Amino acid sequence: MRQIWNDGGMQNAAVAPAGTGTTEAVDAVSDGAVDAVAEAAAAVDVVVIGAGQAGLSAAYHLRRRGLVPLRSATGRGTFVVLDAEAGPGGAWQHRWPSLTMASVNGIHDLPGMHQPEPDPRSPSRQVLPEYFAAFEEQFELAVRRPVRVHAVRRAGKRAGRPAGSADRPAGSAAPAAEGGEGRAPGQEPGRLLVESDHGVFAARAVVNATGTWSKPFWPRYPGQETFRGRQLHVAQYASAAEFEGRRVVIVGGGVSAIQLLDEISRVTETLWVTRREPVFSEEPFDEPRRIAVINRIAERTRQGLTPESVVKATGLFWTPWARAAQARGALVRHPMFSRIEPDGVRMPDGAFEPAQAILWATGFRPALDHLAPLGLRVPGGGIRVDETRAVDEPRLFLIGYGPSASTVGANRAGRRAATVIVRELLAPAPS
Ligand SMILES: Cc1cc2nc3c(=O)[nH]c(=O)nc-3n(C[C@H](O)[C@H](O)[C@H](O)COP(=O)(O)OP(=O)(O)OC[C@H]3O[C@@H](n4cnc5c(N)ncnc54)[C@H](O)[C@@H]3O)c2cc1C
Repeated sequence: MRQIWNDGGMQNAAVAPAGTGTTEAVDAVSDGAVDAVAEAAAAVDVVVIGAGQAGLSAAYHLRRRGLVPLRSATGRGTFVVLDAEAGPGGAWQHRWPSLTMASVNGIHDLPGMHQPEPDPRSPSRQVLPEYFAAFEEQFELAVRRPVRVHAVRRAGKRAGRPAGSADRPAGSAAPAAEGGEGRAPGQEPGRLLVESDHGVFAARAVVNATGTWSKPFWPRYPGQETFRGRQLHVAQYASAAEFEGRRVVIVGGGVSAIQLLDEISRVTETLWVTRREPVFSEEPFDEPRRIAVINRIAERTRQGLTPESVVKATGLFWTPWARAAQARGALVRHPMFSRIEPDGVRMPDGAFEPAQAILWATGFRPALDHLAPLGLRVPGGGIRVDETRAVDEPRLFLIGYGPSASTVGANRAGRRAATVIVRELLAPAPS
């Protein structure tokens, strides 16, 4: 059971577990609950969910194309950006303190505003949120936060029911203002309902830019629950000092694993395990290689296959921290353990390796649970997306997803989504 917003306050509604993405998830919601939500919805042309690099790029390009933040009751020519964080910066505000501007791989500017020249030693979690805040202010994007979206569903499930007179969330439109023919906007079949913990919006288009940070991926291994030490994901990592005096197993073959291996191995003993032998490339990740990788990911995304890990897509490169770890003898890879025991891990050859901490540097998954009511997941495990647009729901755009999951990709995807929305979904119908 999960809660959805309802004009009478918070009401329990039977929603299938998030992430199932089945059409049953839609049908499991009672008609009464859907009607109540629809009647209370504020009309808006575009809802952007998430205000990281991708969402801000989309909002900027919507503004450039003449849309303004939602303030009017009609909702015409407006957009609204909803973000779950308390402040600007998207996932950057949560990166570990030692991830400095020197150790990030290169952050692309947001559109229309250069990053300030930062001190390379300053933490990315401070520099980038300040830059994002300045950007939001300069372009008057009026991001609403903290506002978490918990469901997106199609409006008009029981279209035609007259609009009610229920209380509405602050700032929302009167239902008859946009719906015409006595229908509330949330009951117009052409709209998507975006349900959040601060009201419901009935949108002509939705741009999903929710990133991955809120979905750390923890693989399951036998005996995991018996471990007496500390287990954490990189999303919870704060500093190497926390591990002094403990032997740490670091799991994962990506950039984060190697960065943190370098840091932690300076203060304590580490054991680095990966499923596959990491292969470091001496070749630069130049334009032709970058384009080839993006094209391959774009094709996977079109087919609805789950986005693969960054390291699988790009490979590993000799970075300064990788070389530093290697020089100190810390970059010694071991095969993945076969089980976890209370005081350590059991290796495939039967050897026991004692450990007091396990750090899972095992990546993230796209944060898409709130899209489950749309039933878009295909057997490949992902949502079919072509050039930012969901193939099976043309009013939905996914950016920062698949081929656009980088700061440069997010920027371009935001522009692309805004262009298509304005041209194809908001253009007045020919008379
Ligand atoms: C450790 C690390 C280092 C990286 N370094 C680089 C680098 O050097 N260069 C580079 O190009 N890329 C880098 N990346 C990738 C880069 O961070 C991302 O591609 C990009 O910043 C993601 O932007 P985004 O807008 O898609 O997501 P995010 O920045 O994660 O923003 C998503 C926003 O959506 C919000 N949100 C999520 N769910 C909801 C919801 N249900 N309702 C409302 N709001 C919601 C979140 O709170 C968040 O504010 C790195 C990633 C990691 C993990």
